[in-house]
Amino acid sequence: MTTLFISDLHLEESRPDVTRAFLDFLASRARGAERLYILGDFFEAWIGDDEHTPLQNQVAEALNSVSSSDTRVFLMHGNRDFLIGEDFCSRSGAQLLDDPAVIDLYGSPTLLMHGDTLCTADVDYQKFRINMRNPQWQAAFLKRPLADRQMVARQLREMSMARTKGKRESIMDVTQEEVVRVMEEHNVQQLIHGHTHRPAVHELEANGRPAKRLVLGDWAENVWWIESAPDREPELKKEPLQTS
Ligand code: MN
Repeated sequence: MTTLFISDLHLEESRPDVTRAFLDFLASRARGAERLYILGDFFEAWIGDDEHTPLQNQVAEALNSVSSSDTRVFLMHGNRDFLIGEDFCSRSGAQLLDDPAVIDLYGSPTLLMHGDTLCTADVDYQKFRINMRNPQWQAAFLKRPLADRQMVARQLREMSMARTKGKRESIMDVTQEEVVRVMEEHNVQQLIHGHTHRPAVHELEANGRPAKRLVLGDWAENVWWIESAPDREPELKKEPLQTS
């Protein structure tokens, strides 16, 4: 019995090796797992469930084959793919998960997040995020023709790259006080998130007791995942991504 966590695959057409690694991961490690949690930035970009690219179809089918066996699949939005909707989820047999969400991980209440909301020092980004998550903006955006949406997504990506370039490293990471604050707000001693691409296991103190923050890595060079089983501490694992 295991539960797996992954995030930040950033699946896109230009990285068929990452898609292949994911399909391998599904066929090997995820088979027989009890639950698979995908904690955001699964796709590099998402402009609506009606796009149906071959990559999206292939991924939905593969997920569906796993979720129709015994593995429950959960999907959380990231800052890249926050427009993934119910249609893609039903095609994949995945369940959309709120950010944040508290789950019972074999007896340990565990907080799951994508991680972008923890980066409170990045004030620009937090303002931008509020706009992007506005339901009215999203509804209006999703009504626009696909070609329009593709163009807007490209522009947003360029803007994001330009913005990120000049920022200090510390601004791009989580704020420690915010980590402690959310852990105390949800009364948990364990947090799992991605987003920062800084895979690590951090020991800290929250609620006046020892606590742990597990950070998933992105899949650019390695396959990163967290594996959890009853009577075992969750473990951060990696494997080199087979490039070709
Ligand atoms: Mn992210």
